Amino acid sequence: MKTREQEFSESLNDQRSIWLNGKQVRVLEEEAFRGAIQTVCNLFRMMDDPTTQESVAYVSPTTGEWVHQSFHIPQSIVDLQKRRVAFEQWSEATDGMMSRLSDYARSRLTGWYCARNQFSMYDSAFSEKIARYYEQARDENRFITVVQRDVQINRANQYDPQLLRESGLLHITRKTQDGIYLNGAKMIATAAPYTHDFLIYPVVRLNESQKSVANMLIVPADSAGLHIVCRESFAKSNQEQPDFPLSSQYDEMDALLIFDDVFIPWEYVFIHENPEAIWVIKENPHSICLGYHQAIIRLKTKLEFITGLACKIATTIGATQFLHVQEKLGELISQVETIHACIIASEAEGAMTEEGIFLPRATAIDTAKNLGTTFYPRAVEILQLIAAGGVIQIPSSVQDFQSPISDLMNQYFRGADVDAEKRTKLFKLAWDVIGTPFASRSELYERFYSGDPIRNRAGQYLSYDKDKLTNMIDKYL
Ligand SMILES: Cc1cc2nc3c(=O)[nH]c(=O)nc-3n(C[C@H](O)[C@H](O)[C@H](O)COP(=O)(O)OP(=O)(O)OC[C@H]3O[C@@H](n4cnc5c(N)ncnc54)[C@H](O)[C@@H]3O)c2cc1C
Repeated sequence: MKTREQEFSESLNDQRSIWLNGKQVRVLEEEAFRGAIQTVCNLFRMMDDPTTQESVAYVSPTTGEWVHQSFHIPQSIVDLQKRRVAFEQWSEATDGMMSRLSDYARSRLTGWYCARNQFSMYDSAFSEKIARYYEQARDENRFITVVQRDVQINRANQYDPQLLRESGLLHITRKTQDGIYLNGAKMIATAAPYTHDFLIYPVVRLNESQKSVANMLIVPADSAGLHIVCRESFAKSNQEQPDFPLSSQYDEMDALLIFDDVFIPWEYVFIHENPEAIWVIKENPHSICLGYHQAIIRLKTKLEFITGLACKIATTIGATQFLHVQEKLGELISQVETIHACIIASEAEGAMTEEGIFLPRATAIDTAKNLGTTFYPRAVEILQLIAAGGVIQIPSSVQDFQSPISDLMNQYFRGADVDAEKRTKLFKLAWDVIGTPFASRSELYERFYSGDPIRNRAGQYLSYDKDKLTNMIDKYL
């Protein structure tokens, strides 16, 4: 019997059209994707491994096989906690550095599946279509990526009903009995080269005059006419792992999706030209709460990793005695504990929906998500402020210690409590968080992965029930 790892690798050997450095490439043959795919394979192995299976997976009610926890429908706080444990295990396997491992997208899908009957008023077939796909994705271990944003061309007039097509928006060009044909583009599709399916819908509020772009779709990555156009690769090779420990394993590729007359069968068209339905889908609490519960758990792991790294660096250079260094390390610990508290609060104050789904509390999740957009850049800044010139005072490679001047190098590259080679490895790791292209992308990701942080925070203000707060003031007036 094939392992999930084998099944995943073999499944990518299809007709998908991937573009990198101006050339069409095969996903399994391209060095740029090797590290990320290997990491995903290692994660999938956890579902086959008897020592980890029970914590990352559960038994499918349909097939009796182990399937990932992100598909598990929480009906109690215990179920939510099981989901948390699975997400922690997956994120700890990459120290939170890889974010789109399909557990977020699978959780979003699970949320919409849980709430499916609410959407039947927009399309009587919605419930049946999403149920079929949810079960297929769960039981076939489909890797899914959510892609919501429209291509960034001209934000000033992009949604002008007269300009929808010229604006690059994904729109229907033809309809047949069997399905629809699409043109346009979507951004940003992280993990696109090794994704099975894209879950696509717009997140802006549309009206009837813009209905041609108001569609929710499943798009298989090997659809004819779909081009996955990758950014520059930040991945380093296997041989470079000692010098680039993160870039060599965790560069999850981002891509623009270009649709050139792509056919999608009706069974994958969940919502069709319906602005109101798309808005309800976008705002659906089941999908948001389950998806971002995963996202903030991954965030916590990443902040823990940066805190550990900062503590280790401070000790290595003998800086822990300085008050301001202690204060900064304390700030990092507060970040970790704040996100942890939000996760626990979201679960403890979770509530049962009318469908019998136990959802984590949205406000606590929103708070952690919004804090993350400033916590992570600040964490990287603190790392810089503590490591200072130390991240530059490193030889070009860990291999350099095998040189005619190794005695001298061992003397001057050492740390307060570690030898030169260990110190160099530590600072190479820090550079992969602070200074490499991988590091820059990682910071940009934390600022923007869940949308524009400014509008998200404003949204929290707008949707928050402020009555209790303002009533406290009213009694003085
Ligand atoms: C590395 C990375 C990976 C990502 N991966 C994914 C993914 O896999 N799937 C996914 O769906 N998303 C993903 N995203 C998020 C997404 O694609 C966008 O980057 C994010 O939603 C922000 O939108 P934008 O980049 O289009 O910025 P824009 O919306 O173009 O904003 C540009 C600037 O204009 C301002 N602005 C624009 N419009 C308005 C307005 N109406 N009101 C006020 N200010 C405005 C913004 O504040 C910002 O300063 C990813 C993002 C990054 C950085």
